[in-house]
Amino acid sequence: RLALNTGVAVNPKVVGVGKDKSDRATLDQVLDARTRLVLGSLKRRGIIDDIEYCISTGKEANVYYSGRPALSTDSASPSALAVKIYRTSILAFRSRKSYIEGEHRFKGEYTSSKNPRKMVRVWAEKELRNLRRLHQGGIRVPIAIEQKENVLVMEFLATGESASPRLKDAELSQEDVARLYSELIVIMRRMFKHCKLVHADLSEYNILLHDSHICIIDVSQSVEHDHPRSFDFLRKDIHNVHDYFTRLSRGDIGLLSLRRTWDF
Ligand code: ATP
Ligand code: MN
Repeated sequence: RLALNTGVAVNPKVVGVGKDKSDRATLDQVLDARTRLVLGSLKRRGIIDDIEYCISTGKEANVYYSGRPALSTDSASPSALAVKIYRTSILAFRSRKSYIEGEHRFKGEYTSSKNPRKMVRVWAEKELRNLRRLHQGGIRVPIAIEQKENVLVMEFLATGESASPRLKDAELSQEDVARLYSELIVIMRRMFKHCKLVHADLSEYNILLHDSHICIIDVSQSVEHDHPRSFDFLRKDIHNVHDYFTRLSRGDIGLLSLRRTWDF
């Protein structure tokens, strides 16, 4: 274990302090000096514990596992945490622009790409707020706990010892397929009509199967229903979901057509 000089221990094998060049690149891009300071302060405040392993490395963010902090006084806090750390490199968030422009919630905050740290902070903050809004609207999502700069701390969704599987990796019976498809349609409609959000990157990759239910994740790019491009994003989401379930059901999905349940 490598104790970062901020007091957060990190398992070197998983966070990339290795011989491997690509490992080291991961460390440089994600756990830069400032990010380590943020982790150190989150640990001192009893919000996270040490980073134990990496759950996922993505283009825009890495997700790490942290146990429940020993300092934690809140008995309602989850037993384990997922720590999502957004990359601060320019390339990673060039593609985020079209989502955040046109968001009245962030007017004026995100108009230039001159300050990468600020942009990525806005992005993390957006995910926190979207997670909270969805949770309040009765949608299953990981409980958002804290966000500081480019670090988002949330509930770790586990099935047994490991992370709950993505829908893409879950083993499903034909009955599950039908049940989860209708569940997801209800969720999408509720997200739009009640929470007034469009996910905007909805697919089998951003849905976890948790306690046999659909759990929505990765909502940093989700937009308000009145975002100028919200309908484009919504159409794409519906398309992805419909396509995936059609494939899963081997073509004969004897289910409600999306269009009929969705009164545009
Ligand atoms: P982006 O698309 O913004 O680059 P990403 O796709 O890398 O982000 P997420 O989709 O939020 O990030 O998370 C990546 C993976 O980490 C997920 O597919 C899931 O397997 C796992 N994961 C994320 N959040 C949790 C959580 N709260 N509990 C368990 N596993 C999680
Ligand atoms: Mn994702």
